[in-house]
Order: sequence, then C-alpha cells, then structure tokens
Amino acid sequence: MTEPLVIEGCAIATVDPAGTEHADGHIVIEDGRITALGEGGTDAPGTRIDGRGRLATPGLVNCHHHLYQWATRGLSQQSTLFEWLQELYPVWARVDGDIERAAARGGLAALARSGCSTSTDHHYVFPRGAGDLLAIEVEAARELHVRFHPCRGSMDLGKSQGGLPPDEVTEDRDAILVACADAIDRFHDPAPDAMTRVALAPCSPFSVTKELMAETAEFARSRNVRLHTHMAETLDEEQFCLELFGVRPVEYLEQVGWLGDDVWLAHCVHLDEREITRFGETGTGVAHCPSSNARLGAGIAPVAALTAAGAPVGLGVDGAASNEAGELSGELRQSLLLARLRGGPQALTAREALALGTIHGARCLGREAEIGSLEPGKLADIALWRLDDVDHAGIADPVAALVLGPRPIVDRLLVGGRTVVEHGRLTTADEDEIARDLARASRRMQEVAV
Ligand SMILES: [Zn+2]
Repeated sequence: MTEPLVIEGCAIATVDPAGTEHADGHIVIEDGRITALGEGGTDAPGTRIDGRGRLATPGLVNCHHHLYQWATRGLSQQSTLFEWLQELYPVWARVDGDIERAAARGGLAALARSGCSTSTDHHYVFPRGAGDLLAIEVEAARELHVRFHPCRGSMDLGKSQGGLPPDEVTEDRDAILVACADAIDRFHDPAPDAMTRVALAPCSPFSVTKELMAETAEFARSRNVRLHTHMAETLDEEQFCLELFGVRPVEYLEQVGWLGDDVWLAHCVHLDEREITRFGETGTGVAHCPSSNARLGAGIAPVAALTAAGAPVGLGVDGAASNEAGELSGELRQSLLLARLRGGPQALTAREALALGTIHGARCLGREAEIGSLEPGKLADIALWRLDDVDHAGIADPVAALVLGPRPIVDRLLVGGRTVVEHGRLTTADEDEIARDLARASRRMQEVAV
C-alpha cells in the first residue's frame, strides 16, 4: 500500500465514452489506480499535487516504434521508403547489445517526456551474435517505468528469394518461431495491470514469406497474444505485392489470416473503400504514423474514414530513422494537420486527435479496459500538461492548447501512479547519461554510413 495521491485544480479531459471534461477538477489515485475523479476539490486524504494551470489527460499510447533506430537518426534524408530501407539495412545490421540499450533508453526517455505512458516496439533486426536484444529493451522499459509492448519481429524473405532486405539480416523460419515462443514465455504478462506484454510481428510483405505470416498468426492465436506488422505504407509496396503475390496488400493479409480485432497494422496509407470497410468489419487496428509518412513522402492515411468505419486508429512515432523526433505529443498535432490536408477542416477535431493518441491506441493493444481514458477503476496512467507558460497561457480551450498549440512540457507523467516525469525531466533515469550513451552508440552504429 502506498500513500494515495490527489491531483487538484487542473482541467481534465477524461476521453471517456461520453467525452467528459472538467474545467477545474480532481483525481484521486490509490495503489496505482484511479479511485475517484470529478469537478472541484475533494476531501479525500492523500499527498496533494497542485494541478493549477495544468491539463490532465490519459497518458498517451504509442502504437508503433523501432527503438533501435534512435541510434540512426539524420541519415538518408531524401529517400523513398525502399531506397531508405536499402541504404539503412547494412547500418542496422551493426546493432548490438550496447547500441540497443542506448537507443532504447533514449527513445523511451523521449516518449515519456512527451506524455507517453505505454509504448510498443517492433524489433525485427536480430544479427547473429548481437546478444539478447529483446531482453535489453524490456529491461530499459522496466528501468524507466514505461508500460511496454515489445513485438518480436522477424524477416525471412531475403534478396535471393525476391525480398528487399539483404539475406544477412534475415533469419530462418523455424528459428523465428522458436524465438517467438521464447519471447512470450519470458516476457508476456496477461495480468490486467501488466507492465510488459508481447506481440508477434513479422516485418512487412516485402521482407517476410507467406508461410511465416500464416504460421505466426496461427501461433500467436494459440498463445493468445496480438499480431502486428507494417501494411500498405507506399505505392511501391502495393506494386511489390501485385508482382510477387498477385494481389493488393490487404487481400494478401486476408489470405494469411491477418485481419481481426487481435491485429493492429502500421501505416495503412493506401487503402481503397472496400479495404477500409473490411478494417471496420473485422475490428483490425491501425497505427497511424503521420510524421513518418510525411518524412518519407508516403502519403496521408484515410484516418477519418477508418474511424468512421469502426476501426481503432492509434498513433505511432515510428522508428526515429524516418522521424528524427520520437515525441508522441507532437503526433497529436501532426495527425490533425494531415487529416485536414486530406479532408478539410472538419476531418479531425482536436478531441478526436487526442482520442487517437489515447483510447484508440489502447484498443489497438487490447487494453481499453485498463488504460486510454481517465475513469475510476482504470490504471493511473496520467499526463499533466503545463498550460500556464508563455506558449499556452490564454488559449481559449485547453485541449486545443495541447493539440493545436506548441508541444507542452509534461509537468508530471504518472504510470501506474508512479511519477516518471516531473517538470519535464525524467525521474527514473539520468537524462544526461542517456544522451551521452546515445551519442557514443550512434557514432559506432553509423561508422559505415554515408
Ligand atoms: Zn515502422
């Protein structure tokens, strides 16, 4: 039992099903969960946190990332996705345990400092002899105290078989399935307050065989874990699928059993109307990565149409090699701007953007009963944004200040009721040490890069 916490005096956007908001409210937290929440102050006992000038929202949920790429930022800046991948695969082949640790801590620190309390990671590069990379990132998330969903990724379709990656970064199919089982056995926690849950995640249609896609889906369902991959990111990918498999990417997914409410897919930029309907019907989730899509010039995902069809659409920063920033709060604004470039000023509201980054993300990860909104009984994953500084003071609506305004400082981030960020600084690890390690690791990883 820990001492209860009481946040008072803050605006609150709960993101509950009714969209409840409070102009001046309180939140009570006991044993890692929200026990009460409402307008005005409260007599409930506990340590007081002054929320005046702040907005409380659910902690953000990051649905797509490649933490190791935090060590390869700033490279291949003008490339298409396929050019970028082909330039970077040989660099990524140099990843080892030290680089993974430095990159994971850096990436997770940036996420926490931007109000993210739960993150996935999609790791698919496992060079021989590189060490236990998945264990290293799980350890980093535990140290920083970020709720973590590592996805055991894989590639088994190398260049010699018609795939995009060089053969040396691919793995044998049987070895991949053994490693997937091992990851679930060691790290997956099905408990409702779990800090670590595993998903299985073959990399993409152009780096994975059809057999591995189908076998992974069957295996994941036998172990009751979720499925994740990249999908319909670029027109080059669509062309690749038509040539190699004779169908569009989503039809390919249907063939291998990959549409369903236990699946969430990164990008989904190039979908036709029928495909959008299928996502809604099957409850297939989407991890929308607006900055990465813009950085690679991939296109604008049909977010409004997907949510209208009933599909959950969470937000992702994507790997930092295609988004030199990995701060999730910035993606709230970016998602709104891209949606409006595609569909006009009604296409996405500030509140809808906040819902993508919170409750929709929780749905993608199958955790909507535990996180993603501020409601009594849910886990106390809470971001308290500072809105009384010169960047935000006076903006008429606190949710507009968060989403449309400059990226606010996270005055406090709670994960399961524990403070992870305070006054914009990480409290669970030394940020300066993380930055020093990161500079060293990045230099070493980029030695071969142009
Ligand atoms: Zn990605």
